[in-house]
Amino acid sequence: MPVKNRFAELLPEITAWRRDFHENPEILFEVHRTAGKVADLLRGFGCDEVVEGIGRTGVVGVIKGKTDTKGRVIGLRADMDALPINEATGLDYASKTPGKMHACGHDGHTAMLLGAAKYLAETRNFDGTAVVIFQPAEEGGGGGREMVNDGMMDRFGIQEVYGMHNWPGLPVGSFAIREGALMAAADQFEIVVTGKGGHAAKPHDSIDTTLVASHIVVALQSIASRNVDPLKQVVVSVCTFRTESEAHNVIPQTVLLKGTVRTMDPTVQDYVERRISEIAEGTAMAFGATAAVKYMRGYPVTINAPENTGYAIEVAQKVSGQVDANVAPQMGAEDFSYMLNARPGAYIFLGNGDTAMVHHPAYNFDDNAIPFGSSWYAGMVEDRMPAA
Ligand SMILES: [Zn+2]
Ligand SMILES: [Zn+2]
Repeated sequence: MPVKNRFAELLPEITAWRRDFHENPEILFEVHRTAGKVADLLRGFGCDEVVEGIGRTGVVGVIKGKTDTKGRVIGLRADMDALPINEATGLDYASKTPGKMHACGHDGHTAMLLGAAKYLAETRNFDGTAVVIFQPAEEGGGGGREMVNDGMMDRFGIQEVYGMHNWPGLPVGSFAIREGALMAAADQFEIVVTGKGGHAAKPHDSIDTTLVASHIVVALQSIASRNVDPLKQVVVSVCTFRTESEAHNVIPQTVLLKGTVRTMDPTVQDYVERRISEIAEGTAMAFGATAAVKYMRGYPVTINAPENTGYAIEVAQKVSGQVDANVAPQMGAEDFSYMLNARPGAYIFLGNGDTAMVHHPAYNFDDNAIPFGSSWYAGMVEDRMPAA
């Protein structure tokens, strides 16, 4: 299964969809035009079912194979949202909306999955059901989480799920993946230290929150250096230290600390969350102050299931033969992690060539990657559910 010939024929059509999405970017859950076009195209391909409004503005298409002897169901996912960035590519199909841009290539992901859906609906050369998933709000809104919470996995009987992201710096036509943690969990914390404000010349009558908060900042560094196994990745950064008063002669009543935590392992994540509270509260108590800790979880770790990573590699091998099966993990975070927590599956990087990095105003998705991406999506269905 090299690049499927059909995708060479479909390339102008898929490219036209991609450039239309590029010209009309929408952000977060407000992807109404994009989702509407996706749903119209899916209906036009003859999908057996097209459902809109899952996870607010997500779209799901169902394509049944020629046979269904084993009840197998595979999910394939793409994201549809753009970013709040002013485009600086100078392309003739550049964004028509100032301040919004497809700077992460989700226009390409959506077009490639539409291409795969068109091919699968034409050929139906598999035994089971393919479910194509188009999600909103990957860039910070948790659209993937919303689709999962909306009951998508059970409603469509999805058993395995696969996702893809273009990657600048990797040659077009090549793939990169790793088993286990591929993208980090990104959490936030806030600590309010309360002591006893007062006159700076009478420290013995106060409980100095500036001093207490400073001890907390230093002590938090022991999580990475003394608590977590040195072979596991962890970042604990305190990024805001705000005293209630900016005077030279006032001991502030409260101090606010804010920071971020990055982890690659759910056990480490749970542990760091617990240690931040213990350290902040325990240190504050030692000085007669109190600390109120808020810990906010962001996207969880993106974890590729070992067996499914193997299937993803096999298909990528057949498509192009260029696969880095042990790529370094990325400290960015990815909303597809909610789908991978709900069902086993894998997430793969697809080469975008020597372009600006994603989220840069000069970034553009490379349309030459389309046949490789569409072939991989379709190949996951045909390979995992071979025709009976
Ligand atoms: Zn992005
Ligand atoms: Zn992205």
